[in-house]
Amino acid sequence: MQQTRTIAIFTDLDGTLLDHDDYRWDAARPAIERIRSLSIPLIAVSSKTLAELDHIQMNYGLFDGLIGENGGVISLDGEVEQPGPSSQTIDSARDAIIAAVNVPLGSFRTVPPEMIATETGLTLDDAIRAGQRHCSDPLIWQPSEQDIEIATDIASQFSLKLVKGGRFHTLCGPSNKGAAMKRMLERLVVSGRLGAGDGDGAGDTHATKTAITTIALGDSANDIPMLAAADIAVQIPPKRGIRSEPLLTHSDLRIAPYPGPEGWNAALQSILDQIINTNKKSEVLHG
Ligand SMILES: [Mg+2]
Repeated sequence: MQQTRTIAIFTDLDGTLLDHDDYRWDAARPAIERIRSLSIPLIAVSSKTLAELDHIQMNYGLFDGLIGENGGVISLDGEVEQPGPSSQTIDSARDAIIAAVNVPLGSFRTVPPEMIATETGLTLDDAIRAGQRHCSDPLIWQPSEQDIEIATDIASQFSLKLVKGGRFHTLCGPSNKGAAMKRMLERLVVSGRLGAGDGDGAGDTHATKTAITTIALGDSANDIPMLAAADIAVQIPPKRGIRSEPLLTHSDLRIAPYPGPEGWNAALQSILDQIINTNKKSEVLHG
């Protein structure tokens, strides 16, 4: 059992553990139950806010830790850490952009939740949670090309970026899912959730660190830093359209056989079979 406690799993949510359309995860239940029975930590890594992730966690209790806003904010055992830029920096940069551009500009951190609901189609409760942002701020505006240039320039003066997502330009920091995953691993080790060591206390810190196997699952470009940082990377294919090319070059990249939670389940089951079989064989060899 000891060897299985040295695995940690990091997963994206939308389009990965959660179905692209209906946000269901039931198809992943067998793998989730297996992970739980093996006491393997499962960490959510998402562009969602901590308020949105806390809400999912409250409903389903799936995760041992949460990473939100694309790696900008980390929550473990109720302790929140913000590797991303300070909220003050985000607000100062946004205010400078408001003063410089030629169009009215609001943002998720400043407008009432009713407006976020209108802009996104979210329910009011979901809009309230989407607005509770620590270190990234989607802008609500109708910019010209020149406005975008001005805003991009100002963002870089504050060491921030302006990233165009599906619908919004988002003001955010250089933090990413991969760096946050590494930080979360350190915290899991310190908290005793990961890497029990060999029991004799000698040299455990080193032995434990080297013994941890990380598995990451994701489906899109913002998952690449996390997939790159993991020992085993699982790419979840898109639900529609042509099967995607590999997102990255990785020494152990697996493409899940199905999209969404079905693929999540199948890929993890096969990885766990492989790791546990390898452990059994090595027990025989060294036993
Ligand atoms: Mg995704």
